[in-house]
This record gives sequence, structure tokens and C-alpha cells, in this order.
Amino acid sequence: MKQSNLTLTLCQGPDCHTYHTQDRLKGTKPNKTYQTRRRSSFYYGGGNFCDMRCQSDWFDKYGDQAVDHFGRLTEAKHLTEQNAWQKTYDWSGGYDDDHRVYVYRNGITKEQRPLTKDQYNDTSYTLNER
Ligand SMILES: [Zn+2]
Repeated sequence: MKQSNLTLTLCQGPDCHTYHTQDRLKGTKPNKTYQTRRRSSFYYGGGNFCDMRCQSDWFDKYGDQAVDHFGRLTEAKHLTEQNAWQKTYDWSGGYDDDHRVYVYRNGITKEQRPLTKDQYNDTSYTLNER
């Protein structure tokens, strides 16, 4: 039976097909081959890899090029007062979502400022300078 590959994603691991597992063995005798895994979805590496080993294989082979391509960090980043704000909440209100006390806490100065639940959930809302 031929299976359509249209909705299936191939694992991007460069050596995926070399690992001997039953689910990779496809075809009929005498033409059976171990093949790259394909699934409707994967859980590793942003949905690109079937497991940690394949993700790691990819990084070992292409990681250097990828970092150079997207911009290698050349100086250390600094966390300062201006960008140390983190959204959090304390558990004084218990586990009840509606009674949580949301706060903005500065990781450097330890200053706390009030935060509404909507602000907490709004990913674009920030006190940090960009
Ligand atoms: Zn794989």
C-alpha cells in the first residue's frame, strides 16, 4: 500500500535513516530499507526532529554554520535595570487563577510594580527597554 507523503513531515536528522528501528524499516522483501522517519508532527527542535539524537546530529553537523548565518554573538549581553523586568505572580491568592496577584519584578533593583492579569497575558506589554 502506497502512503501519501503530502501531510507528513520528514525528520531533518542527517543520520535518521541509519538508526535501526522497526518503524524505520519500510518496503517489502527483498527491497526493505531503513528510511528517514516521517510523521504528521514531531516534538523536537521546533517540530523538525523525531528525537533528541536526530536534533543533536543536526546541530553537530550544521550548528556552526547556523550560528554564523544568523549572527554570532561577539560581545556579552548585559542585564541592566532597564531590561530586567520580569512578569510573575505570587501564590498568596492560592491556586485560583482569578485571585492571583500579578506583579512586575525588576531582577536587578528588586522593585515590584502592580500588573493586571491582562498585562500579564499580553506578550507585547513590557516595561523593558528594547
Ligand atoms: Zn530522526
